[in-house]
Amino acid sequence: MMKKFLVLPGDGIGREVCEAALPVLDLLNLPIQCEFGEIGWDFWCQEGNAIPAATWHQIDMADAVLLGAISSKGKQAAEAELVPTLQGRGLRYTSPVLQLRQRLELFANVRPVWRLAGQGMPFRCAIIRENTEGLYAGFDRQGVPESLSDWLTHPNLARSGLDQAAISVRLQTRFGLERLFRYAFDYAGANGYSRVTLADKPNVLRESGQFATDIFLGIAAHYAGIEAEICNVDAVALDLVRQPQRFGVIVAENLLGDILSDLAAGVMGGLGLAPSANIGHGRAYFEPVHGSAPDIAGSGRANPAAMFLTIGMALRHMGFAAAADRIDGAVLQVVRQGRCLTPDLGGASTTQDMASAILQAVTRPR
Ligand code: ATP
Ligand code: MG
Repeated sequence: MMKKFLVLPGDGIGREVCEAALPVLDLLNLPIQCEFGEIGWDFWCQEGNAIPAATWHQIDMADAVLLGAISSKGKQAAEAELVPTLQGRGLRYTSPVLQLRQRLELFANVRPVWRLAGQGMPFRCAIIRENTEGLYAGFDRQGVPESLSDWLTHPNLARSGLDQAAISVRLQTRFGLERLFRYAFDYAGANGYSRVTLADKPNVLRESGQFATDIFLGIAAHYAGIEAEICNVDAVALDLVRQPQRFGVIVAENLLGDILSDLAAGVMGGLGLAPSANIGHGRAYFEPVHGSAPDIAGSGRANPAAMFLTIGMALRHMGFAAAADRIDGAVLQVVRQGRCLTPDLGGASTTQDMASAILQAVTRPR
């Protein structure tokens, strides 16, 4: 059956790497109908929403959505000028990525990690980060409410006073954790991993740690062939650098997962090689981990590999695993050969040259 694939190129190098990598869809000759949509800063300026209504309609009809990048910084100066006019019309800028996550309830952020370039033992694992609750659930304020003062008996609080303190709450719910862990074990099964590691801090955050651990083990009991492991997040960070080959799937709450994901992107050789997926129930969007990179936009220096790998993840999601394998293999081949690399990987090739080498490797693998 024909699948609908919506591409939102967005801003900066997002547009450049989309243009360079999307021809791979023609080469692979899949039953996919590719459509383009508008999103980004310019649309907020014009319409008061970075995701126009017509784009929402396209998103709702799509089997998978591919996002190039959305500018978060760089345009802030312009924003400062525009804000008074637009806010006068009752408009506030909300990040399109946040809008997508909330409206589609994308509860899991998936980042496959593997060593493609550089020294050290090859490895492959995946980090799955909870996307809706944890320390980023939105309970974050300056000043401690009087009603909590019986419970919060820290000596420094008495020294500072309730109004000279700030508080953030790590919210974890059975609903949120069960769907996350279930997805992590399903992902492990579907991608050939034999271990799922919960990265948390149960030795210090005893109550919330115990709560998460119990739910984790409860879900694990339904997946006989997959080992469930509980680790302190600091130990996981150390091992990601020292012996990443010991991991399969690593699952963590929002903030801890955020940090581990970026650490892992560094271990695998930088942002130019890191793809990601945001997953909800039957909904998904895919984007390279990097942003719009205003510092190199327009210079032909953007590494297109992350976008190729991201397209691979989207294809896998739509049921085209063999095609995704071909893309992964082609990227690996070009990176290993080292003849056609962009400056971030130590080469002197342009976005277009490296993309052409990857496209050629898709057609004629070695
Ligand atoms: P944004 O505001 O869109 O998040 P940013 O300033 O955070 O942009 P990122 O895109 O997150 O920029 O990139 C961080 C750094 O990594 C930049 O110096 C950028 O040039 C570099 N970088 C990111 N992606 C790539 C890529 N695909 N190829 C080469 N360099 C990259
Ligand atoms: Mg960024």
